[in-house]
Amino acid sequence: MKVIVQKYGGTSMGSVDRIHRVATRIKKWSDTDVKLVVVTSAMSGETNRLISLAKNFTADPDARSLDQVLASGEQVSSGLLTIMLKELGLDAISFCGWQVKIVTDSVFGKAKIKSIDPSFVRKELSTRNVVVITGFQGIDESSGAITTLGRGGSDTSAVALAYALKAEECLIYTDVDGVYTTDPRVEPNAKRLKTVTFEEMLEMSSLGSKVLQIRAVGFAGKFKVKTRVLSSFQDPNLSIADELRESTIVTHEEDEVMEEAVISGIAFNRDEARITVSGVSDTPGVAHKILGPIANANIDVDMIIQNSSRDGTTDFSFTVHKDELRDAEKVLLDEVPKSLGYGEICSDINICKVSVVGIGMRSNVGVASKMFEILSMEGINIKMISTSEIKISVVIDDKYMELAVRALHRAFNLDV
Ligand code: ADP
Ligand code: ASP
Ligand code: MG
Repeated sequence: MKVIVQKYGGTSMGSVDRIHRVATRIKKWSDTDVKLVVVTSAMSGETNRLISLAKNFTADPDARSLDQVLASGEQVSSGLLTIMLKELGLDAISFCGWQVKIVTDSVFGKAKIKSIDPSFVRKELSTRNVVVITGFQGIDESSGAITTLGRGGSDTSAVALAYALKAEECLIYTDVDGVYTTDPRVEPNAKRLKTVTFEEMLEMSSLGSKVLQIRAVGFAGKFKVKTRVLSSFQDPNLSIADELRESTIVTHEEDEVMEEAVISGIAFNRDEARITVSGVSDTPGVAHKILGPIANANIDVDMIIQNSSRDGTTDFSFTVHKDELRDAEKVLLDEVPKSLGYGEICSDINICKVSVVGIGMRSNVGVASKMFEILSMEGINIKMISTSEIKISVVIDDKYMELAVRALHRAFNLDV
């Protein structure tokens, strides 16, 4: 049995017309010799609407109940698509994540998939061509509760199903026709990549490119799931070969011929805030005394910088997700005076992280200095820097984000 998994994102499922187009595309595919598993996201805006609805009752809804609410978005879209498919004459059926036994851990709101039993879906596929499954959700087997996989989690549902069902390929249909050198909504000259390595994609996703959820990329890379990003907005009646031509394949470096660029993409992230603890005594263990309580509160820290001054004090800065800023400030106000004495704690939410990513950096020196030169020519001040083998990130003022992305895009010859 040749199985293909297709995932349709929120914008692709965003209206009656768009669901109609998705159904027309599925019909075209189902007329070939493949069996289709279709994973749906909630209609665009629906997950945000459900979150706001829950927040009418409390700013901090309990995570289990919130997941119960959020999972409904995908249940609606999967059902609507199936109704449309049946109208087109297909023998389709829809299921929720818990029904097909997508088993997760019990971390509500960002659950990890532990297992999927392929036998249920395979049995369904033995008698029909299309099975539609809700993305973004699973079941915590120990309690029987519905869990969700974190924002953008339908990508992960699709890749995990493709792996469990030994699918030929996992096709991620979205509102752009592939992975670009940067977000094409910020830089219209961005170029679609024919291929991108899992390693690069993992960095791009973790640095803010939301075209694929980071967990989906990690999963696909680890288990070698053939994954392709393509547009649901192309004419649904295009031949399958033409449809697949306009896409990006996420690949293992050794598998395919790579495009030979030093930098393959530029990512940005506006979701972080910077906290600075200044004027505290510069003694051994400063980092531990500041970041220990932050870690104990389950707050993720990204970039870190420490400067010692001549008067025996130190300034310590780090970034956290904006959603966790208040909690982090509270922890510091409680803990820092006890362990380090009185200093000043201040935060900045008007920051943005811009990163250049590319495995070509490994064999090319000078990428960092070129990046810093371009930013200085544009008069952009760098507040923090971090590097790895295949990426360089800087934190700058949020208002310079577009200017920085475009200038770097041009300077690294990524423009079309
Ligand atoms: P879906 O609802 O289909 O899951 P998302 O909104 O999650 O779609 O992801 C698609 C969006 O990702 C695009 O509309 C684009 O604005 C954004 N994006 C960010 N970086 C990139 C990139 N490098 N290449 C393509 N799209 C990107
Ligand atoms: N509906 C969920 C979200 O908006 C999951 C997804 O679309 O992948 O995050
Ligand atoms: Mg998405």
